[in-house]
Amino acid sequence: MPIIKTDICIIGAGPAGATAALQLAYSGVPCVIIDKAVFPRDKVCGDGLSGKVLTLLGRIDPGIAARLLAASFKLDSWGVNFVAANRMGINIPYKAGYQKAPGEPRGFVCKRMDFDNFLVDELKRCPQVQLIEGVNITKHTLEADGYLLGNASGDVQIKAKLVIAANGAYSSFTKEVANIHMEPEHYVAGIRAYYKNISGIHPDKLIELHFLKNILPGYFWIFPLPNGEANVGVGMLSSSLRRKKVNLKQLLHDTVTKDPEMKERFKDAVLMGTIDGYGLPLGSKKRALSGERYMLTGDAAYLIDPFTGEGIGNALYSGRMAAEQAIIAIAADDYSAAALRAYDAHVYRVLGPELIMSTKLQKLIKYPWILNMLMKMAARNKEFRSLLTSMFHEVDIRRKLTQPMFYLRLLFSR
Ligand SMILES: Cc1cc2nc3c(=O)[nH]c(=O)nc-3n(C[C@H](O)[C@H](O)[C@H](O)COP(=O)(O)OP(=O)(O)OC[C@H]3O[C@@H](n4cnc5c(N)ncnc54)[C@H](O)[C@@H]3O)c2cc1C
Repeated sequence: MPIIKTDICIIGAGPAGATAALQLAYSGVPCVIIDKAVFPRDKVCGDGLSGKVLTLLGRIDPGIAARLLAASFKLDSWGVNFVAANRMGINIPYKAGYQKAPGEPRGFVCKRMDFDNFLVDELKRCPQVQLIEGVNITKHTLEADGYLLGNASGDVQIKAKLVIAANGAYSSFTKEVANIHMEPEHYVAGIRAYYKNISGIHPDKLIELHFLKNILPGYFWIFPLPNGEANVGVGMLSSSLRRKKVNLKQLLHDTVTKDPEMKERFKDAVLMGTIDGYGLPLGSKKRALSGERYMLTGDAAYLIDPFTGEGIGNALYSGRMAAEQAIIAIAADDYSAAALRAYDAHVYRVLGPELIMSTKLQKLIKYPWILNMLMKMAARNKEFRSLLTSMFHEVDIRRKLTQPMFYLRLLFSR
């Protein structure tokens, strides 16, 4: 096969890579995007899509957001049920006042098999995008005029002036080129299972985060899906996992069979398929996201929210920003590390404040009493409940949650 020549090659067609390619295409810029998988393909995930996803896709093109809204493979989600170790819980709607405007949910739950395939189908609508599936990029050599990328057998070779690495949590590009390696303090290990017939699902299909004492600072989740199914999983900081020598599959099994509340809810539940695990590279540490002729995006850039474990939204945001930076680089014919640093600045300007707040919250919830106290407060204080609601969208409010004075005031308020 002759060498494919392109200005921009995107490695990975998951949410980050597909979004980068879509933004380029809708700006009239061609690219090559290559994935080792053939779509539709599965990706281990909680399958929770926050409001960021629809917002961002709508910014690229309102038609994409409209097609996602119309898709039948997803379940609308109106809020979150947070449950502390003391079993007190609070329902937090995504929108203040719990407005359920038809056709306007803030979030969705849908299997990644479907969502990622939706994005790839969107790519296939764009003539500027050359999508190559089933090719695992293992070689990346920096040459004077660009990166030479290739697979192990050498039968596929791509020469690109600029690389957007979007190949996920185990990205070899991130390790070998950007020299960023997994650190257990900034990494979560998660497992996911699909169940049918779990009882006690909220009528409004709230997603459930259970901050069980033995899992902190991680959580056990139940995310309702269409057709009576649910995505059930557990995620735990890798450093805690190692220290406590926890086996995640055993932990999941014990939770659904022995926990007093869950064993009732899972009494008639049926496990569908296997229980699978994957890594979550957290954005709890600031890193260099670009270098000469490359930018890292999504999980390959370690951008997962350390408190919620949400990574899809940030994958989309960073993918779009990388595309915007790529367009500037092409126009200036400047792919230097110095020029691409503007991408890092953009990412951290937009996502940085949220990541910093979530890192503080992640550290706070290590202590079960804090969440217990928050739940007690929320149960008796209406103002505090609405504050927690706004927390989802307003970084300033999350900042309040990280200040000791806030808790003191709360303790003395009614
Ligand atoms: C257990 C678990 C639960 C999670 N729950 C949620 C959740 O509910 N909500 C949420 O927002 N986030 C969640 N996340 C995080 C979310 O899954 C990721 O943040 C998201 O998938 C990142 O998208 P991405 O495009 O960066 O990477 P990926 O989705 O991993 O896509 C990377 C793509 O690159 C391809 N690829 C990899 N290597 C190569 C290569 N060498 N050559 C070519 N192609 C390659 C892969 O095939 C894949 O298609 C969860 C993660 C885990 C592990």
